[in-house]
Amino acid sequence: MNTNNLQKSRTCDLCGTDNAHVIYDFPPGYYDRDKFTTFSWDGGLEIGLKIVQCNSCGLVYQNPCITPEAMKFVYPESIIPEKIEYDKLLATHKFGLILDLIRKFQAKTNKKTLNAVDIGTRYAVLPMLMNQLGLTSYGLEYNKKCVEAARKSGCDCIHQGELTSLKELAASVGVQEFHVITLIDVIEHLLNPSEEIKLISEMQSSGDVVIVTTMDNDSLGHRLFKKYWYYIHSQHTFYFTKETLVKLFAKQGYELDELVRIPGYKSIPQIPSELNKLRKHLAKRASTDNVHKEWFATNRPHLFDLFTLVFRKS
Ligand SMILES: [Zn+2]
Repeated sequence: MNTNNLQKSRTCDLCGTDNAHVIYDFPPGYYDRDKFTTFSWDGGLEIGLKIVQCNSCGLVYQNPCITPEAMKFVYPESIIPEKIEYDKLLATHKFGLILDLIRKFQAKTNKKTLNAVDIGTRYAVLPMLMNQLGLTSYGLEYNKKCVEAARKSGCDCIHQGELTSLKELAASVGVQEFHVITLIDVIEHLLNPSEEIKLISEMQSSGDVVIVTTMDNDSLGHRLFKKYWYYIHSQHTFYFTKETLVKLFAKQGYELDELVRIPGYKSIPQIPSELNKLRKHLAKRASTDNVHKEWFATNRPHLFDLFTLVFRKS
């Protein structure tokens, strides 16, 4: 396969410079395809993965970065089910913290009716939950197969599109702005976050909020496990910290309103079992066993490394 158009060198999305140093450099074929399933690692393509840090602003990002042409390999549609079991998903959801933050926003704002959009919504479970809180909520999802499956299973608040189609979504549902915008496990997948956060800011006014959940590049898990950290792979184009996210949102007129992270000490009891996973991972990479094929990240370790930030438009 011609791999020339699957990755492209880029400058720093935050400050525009191209003065960066390499943190991790994984050569093509780092995971043997006979031993591992690798779609989110490299799309099953013969491409390497390089993670760099900007010397000017500290942003950590993938460079060269996957291109839109590589997306169909890195995000295969074959893993999406035909039908979504909403009863089960709504009963076992993990959006408790996000819903608490939205309730806080509802208590503070003097705006009467609130519109919300969840970007990268998968099956639109979060918009359904936000509707239960009294917001009028929409889900925007890039993957056509997710949208089809959700619609077929009874979800009517999901729309197909990328973040760049936010304006079209607003026009099609007849709203002027989205008071709450959620990016849950999404911002680390964007190709041009500065431009995309600008599009978000154009759909909000003073006091509106963006709620972001992503992995914290400064977390204990990353500091301990380094190149073996679970969250490192080709789907993840940006590796933010509190500082780089604050800079990204400040460019579009947002202030950090709240930050929630699980304290490092709560992760400590997890460390022995995660180290055991890492030991298995290293053994699998070194072995010649290609009978028991496993997903490359099955035993890549992590701790409570996600954090959630609320940005309020000034
Ligand atoms: Zn920079």
